[in-house]
Amino acid sequence: MFYLTEQFFSIQGEGKYAGIPSYFLRTGGCNLSCPGFGARYEVDGEVRFGCDTYFAVDSVFAKQWQKVEQSSLLIAELQNEFKEIGYYPDVVITGGEPLMYHTDKIFYEVIDWLVKNKIRITFETNGTVEIDFEKYPAYKSCVFALSLKLANSGEPKEKRVIPQALKNIQTHTKESFLKFTIDAELVETTAIDEINEVRHILPELDVYCMPVGESRDTIWKNDKAVFEFCMKHNFRYSDRLHIRVFDTTQGV
Ligand code: SF4
Repeated sequence: MFYLTEQFFSIQGEGKYAGIPSYFLRTGGCNLSCPGFGARYEVDGEVRFGCDTYFAVDSVFAKQWQKVEQSSLLIAELQNEFKEIGYYPDVVITGGEPLMYHTDKIFYEVIDWLVKNKIRITFETNGTVEIDFEKYPAYKSCVFALSLKLANSGEPKEKRVIPQALKNIQTHTKESFLKFTIDAELVETTAIDEINEVRHILPELDVYCMPVGESRDTIWKNDKAVFEFCMKHNFRYSDRLHIRVFDTTQGV
């Protein structure tokens, strides 16, 4: 059994495949909480801080999540959706942290079906989960967008950078890339040292940097600094197209 918080057809807004029409599955739950990203929300009058997808992270919202207990039902739903779309789009599995479910039987059956249908799957992951690729070989065919968290996430380093999990993904997959979310302040301080520390573990992967921002306003505050940072260090700049176009609207 696993939890889905939303599913929708849209365009990938970030990273290597930005601009490609994609079907999104967002799972519920995460092994981090990233209070440093500063998205403020209230639960029964208590103020909490998290990331821009706190609604898919904090288990207090689990009552609103959909329990997926049979892979056949979700697969049938996807087949109908793809029929309406008119083709099999890329599938992006995001969260929360989707790889928390990687050993779940129902979850794996869905991944296996997508792989067998030659659909490109991108996992948007924080890269902290060690995957058993021999027992679950379908993951070898997936793309891993390793969205590692830096100090600005507010999480301790030993929780957010797990070298053996990262090396394991690099070794077993054809395609992975690193994606960092940074702001103007981090550009001026520790961003390059922190990114280089991760590149030391994964020297072969391309690096994408994108501006912090859960809204157009915050992206505008950070994009120029990140743009120039990428030019200086030969990284790839990634925008956040969905936020540029839809601002704070969810499910697009
Ligand atoms: S790892 Fe990602 S989804 Fe999880 S809390 Fe941090 S930013 Fe949010």
